[in-house]
Amino acid sequence: MSVASYRIARIVVDIAIERAFDYLIPDALVDDVQVGSRVTVPFGSRHVQGYVVKLISESDAGCTLKPITKRVSPIPYLDEQLLTLLSWISAYYGARMEQCIRTALPGPVRKTGAGFREQQAVRLVENANISQKNTEQQQRIIDLLRSAGGTQTVTAVLQQTRTSRTPLQTLVRKGVLALETAIQPRDPFAHSSVIRTEPLELMPAQQKALHLVLQLMKEEKPKPILLHGVTGSGKTEVYLQAIAAAIKCQQQAIVLVPEIALTPQTVSRFRARFGERIAVLHSHLSEGERHDEWHRIRTGNADVVIGARSAIFAPVPHLGLIIVDEEHEPSYKQSEAPRYHARDVAVMRAHQIGCPIILGSATPALESWSNAQRGKYILCTLPDRADYRQMPTVQVVDMRIEAERHGQPVIFAKDLLDAMQSRLQRKEQMMLFLNRRGFASSLICPKCGYVSECTSCSISHTYHKTQHALLCHICGGRRSVPEHCPQCSDPSFRYAGFGTQRLEDIVRKCFPHARVARMDTDTTRGKNGYDSILDGFRDRRIDILVGTQMIAKGLHFPNVTLVGIMFADMSLHMPDFRAGERTFQLITQVAGRAGRGEVAGEVFIQTYTPHHTAIQMARQMDYAGFASAELAFRQELFYPPHSHLICLHFRGANEAEVRLSSESVARMLQAEAPANLIIADATPAPLAKAKNIYRYQVMIRCKSVRKTLRYFRKIAASLPLPQTVTLALDVDAVDLM
Ligand code: ADP
Ligand code: ZN
Repeated sequence: MSVASYRIARIVVDIAIERAFDYLIPDALVDDVQVGSRVTVPFGSRHVQGYVVKLISESDAGCTLKPITKRVSPIPYLDEQLLTLLSWISAYYGARMEQCIRTALPGPVRKTGAGFREQQAVRLVENANISQKNTEQQQRIIDLLRSAGGTQTVTAVLQQTRTSRTPLQTLVRKGVLALETAIQPRDPFAHSSVIRTEPLELMPAQQKALHLVLQLMKEEKPKPILLHGVTGSGKTEVYLQAIAAAIKCQQQAIVLVPEIALTPQTVSRFRARFGERIAVLHSHLSEGERHDEWHRIRTGNADVVIGARSAIFAPVPHLGLIIVDEEHEPSYKQSEAPRYHARDVAVMRAHQIGCPIILGSATPALESWSNAQRGKYILCTLPDRADYRQMPTVQVVDMRIEAERHGQPVIFAKDLLDAMQSRLQRKEQMMLFLNRRGFASSLICPKCGYVSECTSCSISHTYHKTQHALLCHICGGRRSVPEHCPQCSDPSFRYAGFGTQRLEDIVRKCFPHARVARMDTDTTRGKNGYDSILDGFRDRRIDILVGTQMIAKGLHFPNVTLVGIMFADMSLHMPDFRAGERTFQLITQVAGRAGRGEVAGEVFIQTYTPHHTAIQMARQMDYAGFASAELAFRQELFYPPHSHLICLHFRGANEAEVRLSSESVARMLQAEAPANLIIADATPAPLAKAKNIYRYQVMIRCKSVRKTLRYFRKIAASLPLPQTVTLALDVDAVDLM
């Protein structure tokens, strides 16, 4: 079929509507409109913008088609490959195509008006008649432009020749210089430099992994690789050398890392190997930087794209390899529509293109592990730390026994205190991990049991000492600390539980001479808060780093020889069937920060449930053992990875309406449910109210997502919800709060 026979464009408009619409391509635009074009079209009585997703020769719309008004920009924003991926996301996650496109294109790229940074430049006109009688200043300008290859921005010329605008304007008038606009790319790395590194000689296990990737690069439909490597086993080196191989074949790579791990430390390891040809995409960039990076990637001017979740949509022209580091991280799941899982989308993109993908982790998600067990993925293991460094020794401390010994619960076991003391003497560094920020978890009245709670959300306040205020961690609401119990007027309020602030306080009291710092969302709010704490720790200006899970991920500090995990059971008590898995992952990742240098590391796990499988297996560093016990438990309850979990979220300001809606939908679904479909009763979400919005949910466990969504749609169509209640679908739900 010749191109000329496409006269109709199927367009997804920027409006919250399920379907696409067909428009005529007027003669004047035939050469301009292509798949991915952004266009303006008439819609009802107004004009809206949209994207061309398909060119067709006949429409089944059954009405007269209106013509496209104009093309907004000459750039094709989406290609067929990405559109295929987005249609899959739209169908699988039950999201509108318009939402999927919005997610795939960074805001600053979509926005009309946003654009390249243009600067005024001057160019030395070729063959211009350059007079001999130039002033000294004019001559300086000409000399500079000659040495700069003929063109330079006006600002740079004025700065470097230290002249005023007058001589420059004179030269322009004489026809020696021409004024023009030049694109000035914004460079996120403008103010940092790194020392280049060379590929390391690989350990045998790393060698085997790399060899596998190279092998798969030659295959048409390679299976995904699950790279299970203990912490510090040198997964990153495998990534780097695999990427180098892709680049050698003129292809590009995408590297996904969790937002929290997207530290300068991670990025600079890639920059040190690949230099300028790295592009980054994440939320800390300015709008202009994101805009320019996206265009740099699209035009093939970056070999490696590193970014968080949405970087999986990077418009690389010749994708040859995808890497998903820390593939088990829950932050790969987007919590708003489209509620996609970036790891699974990455697997799909690799499958559609036919390129290899590496999913790397020390603690793979059970979904990925089970895919490897079933032969869908190829399992590749790095069982030892690189350079034969030892894994740390791990001790589980039963805090119930410690409490009995002291007649009351204690914060630190004696052995941990002793170990900290000895590290301070040896000038080694340590990390203390506690998965809760703030000072105390709540304010409790010992007399009547009153607990201060947020009035908009169904959780108790957290006491923050630095602000001397009670804060809600859901809505950010704050309340001053009451003098007496608001319920019984008793003045002897007490702080129950504790957070990182209080832990920091206690550490300072126990070790007055130690240099202590804290890392959590409260101390890293400023633009450079995170970096400055890490720099201080790296430069050994800090002895003890106290932190939340922010310190658990991907950090590499060779002088850390001791890690203390306070309240290791905290995450076990979450109302989530993945609580055991999360706990195992957290302990393993935190413990992995210890002993990454010359001196072996030691880890203390303080817990009130020392015999729990997650804790015992983490102590033995037995991932496979944990996975097999956990998979058996999940099998019994038909939980993922043995099924898919779809969560229906009902939200609204009127509790009765939210509850009734969720109950009737659950009942209707249950009434005709086909086999292999388990529909639970409607329940309030664990976080039952947030920001004055009530939350109910219905959990569906099924074998086939597509069939279930079809069934759900049929039922939902016959059951209109009240205006005030919203219903959202979360396919393969990760966050059950
Ligand atoms: P992971 O990503 O698996 O946690 P890293 O890639 O951070 O592990 O590697 C841990 C340390 O081991 C790093 O300092 C890295 O430079 C070093 N390393 C990795 N591979 C090798 C190797 N083949 N030889 C020597 N050192 C290595
Ligand atoms: Zn609140």
